[in-house]
Amino acid sequence: MQRVQSRTAAVTPTSGTWTGGTASTMDGITTRLITSTNESATNATMALTVPWNWNTSAQPYLELKFWVDNPTNLYAGSGGIILYAALDAGMAKSASAYPASSLCSWQPIKTGWNTIRLDRREFSLVGGFVDGDWSAVTHLRVNVRSKLGTTVNVHFANVSTVLPRGIVLLVHDDADASMATAWEIERANGLKSSNFITTHWVGADKISWNAIERYYRMGFDMGSHTDHHTLLSTQTATDKALSVATAAGDLVSHGLLRSARFFAAPQGEADANITAAVSPFHMINRNAVPSPTGEGSKYPVSDQYVAQSKAWGRVGYVSYSVTDATLEDVKGYVTAMAAKGQLMCILTHIVGDTNLSTDTYNELCAHIAASDVDCLTFSEYFDGITYGSNNSPIGNPLVKGVR
Ligand SMILES: [Zn+2]
Repeated sequence: MQRVQSRTAAVTPTSGTWTGGTASTMDGITTRLITSTNESATNATMALTVPWNWNTSAQPYLELKFWVDNPTNLYAGSGGIILYAALDAGMAKSASAYPASSLCSWQPIKTGWNTIRLDRREFSLVGGFVDGDWSAVTHLRVNVRSKLGTTVNVHFANVSTVLPRGIVLLVHDDADASMATAWEIERANGLKSSNFITTHWVGADKISWNAIERYYRMGFDMGSHTDHHTLLSTQTATDKALSVATAAGDLVSHGLLRSARFFAAPQGEADANITAAVSPFHMINRNAVPSPTGEGSKYPVSDQYVAQSKAWGRVGYVSYSVTDATLEDVKGYVTAMAAKGQLMCILTHIVGDTNLSTDTYNELCAHIAASDVDCLTFSEYFDGITYGSNNSPIGNPLVKGVR
C-alpha cells in the first residue's frame, strides 16, 4: 500500500445554519440558493452562524462548496462571490474580512460544483479586524453579485474548516544491523523511513552499505549521524567539522544524494557551534528538542516525547522513544495526532531486542498504515509535496538554508 503523497485533508463540516437565500437542493445535496440579478449585491447575501471559533492554527482552511449555473455572469469588478468572516451576528463590515481578490478572478469558477479553500492570508483585514481575531470568528457571510443585465444562481452546500492530514516520520539512528529488519517491516506495511547513519560504523556486524544503497533506491532516506558518533560538544571546532564533513562525504560517495542533506547530531545535541559545523554540509539538522526558541526552534523534528506547537502554530510536534512507552501508548499517540492533523516523529534504534521486538514494531507500523496519516520520508516532507508552495508547516526550508 503506497500511502505517501496521498495528502487528502480531513474536513470538518460545520453544522451552522444559513440565514437568507432560499432552501434548495442540487444533485441531491441540501443547499441554500442565492440569486443575483442586475449587479445587485444587496439582495443576494446570506449569513452563516458557525458553531465554532475558527482555529486557524489547527484548521487553516475554510472550505466553501457551491454550485453555479452561469459563472460568466458573475461580477468581476469588486467580486462576484465574496466570503466575509466576522466576529458577531451583526456582521458589521468593520469587523469582517474578505478575500483579497474576488473569487471570480482568484480562480476560474466553473459551471457546476466548485470547492474553494481559503486560508486567512487570503482575506483582507478591514475596519477593526486584526490578525489576532481569527479565533473569535463566529459568523460568515457570502455575497453574490451578477453583472449588469444578467442573473446568476449559486447554491451553497456548506462551509467547512479543514484540518491538514497528519504526518508520521519514522526515523532510525546509528547503524545497527537491525535497520534492515526495520526497513523490511516498514516496506511490508507500505511505509518508508529516514535513517541517520554513523558512517564509520557501517559494515562488519552493523548495517552494510549494500543494504543502505538498496533501500535508498526504494525511497528510504539515508542521512548523516556523523562518522564516529562522537559527541560534537566534546570536540574542537576543527574536529567537529571533520566528523561532519567525513560522514557527508561518505554519503555522497555512496550516491545517497537525495538525502545527504539531512543530519542528526549524536544524542540530539544542538547549539550554535554545531549549527556552524553542520551548515556547510547539510541543509536540515534534525534536533532532539523542538523548543519554540533558540537553536531547537530551527529544527522541526523531535525525538522527545513532547507534544507542542511551534510559534508558527499550525502543526504540533509529537514524538516519543519506544523504550519509554508501551506499544499501546504509541498507537494512542498516533491516533491522537492523526485526529489533530499533527506531525509525529518516531525514533528507534534497534528493532528486535528486548526494548522493541519485531512483532511490536510490526504492529506499530500496521497501526500507522491503517491510520489516516501520511507516513513520509524527510525528502518527501521537506520537498513540500504535502503542502504546496507556501503552506509548509515549517515555512519553506529549502530556501531558508540550514535549519
Ligand atoms: Zn545515535
